[in-house]
Amino acid sequence: MSFDENCFYCSKNQDLDSLMIKICDLDVSTVYLFKEQTYGGRCNVVYKEHKSEIADLTEEEAAAFINDARKVAKAIRKAFNPDKVNYGAFADTMKHLHLHIVPKYEGGPSWGKTFEMNPQKIYLSDDEYQNLICKIKDNL
Ligand SMILES: [Zn+2]
Repeated sequence: MSFDENCFYCSKNQDLDSLMIKICDLDVSTVYLFKEQTYGGRCNVVYKEHKSEIADLTEEEAAAFINDARKVAKAIRKAFNPDKVNYGAFADTMKHLHLHIVPKYEGGPSWGKTFEMNPQKIYLSDDEYQNLICKIKDNL
């Protein structure tokens, strides 16, 4: 297993906790809910190992990763009925493969444009986060 102690996705330290809340593990990834909820229901699908890009995975690993992302996107569609789901994989500096899964709503924030990485506008109460997590889990 590739592991980098300086990577918060690997170490699962407080930097990770400050940004997102674990929802569950899937076949080859862990799913998190972003605390910043400008895009209602936004999640992050994080690969189980410290690998930088989809191109670093075997065909089987890549298929399993995309299938995990597919499951999360389907759950988000069922739970929140967005008009479109966006997918973002950047990680220029944090080189641990993860896919932002971002529900978008017609007339809502960044509709027709790239979503903002961290708009720092909308944060919820713990109960509200748990409510979103339950809605996603119920549909996974
Ligand atoms: Zn890592």
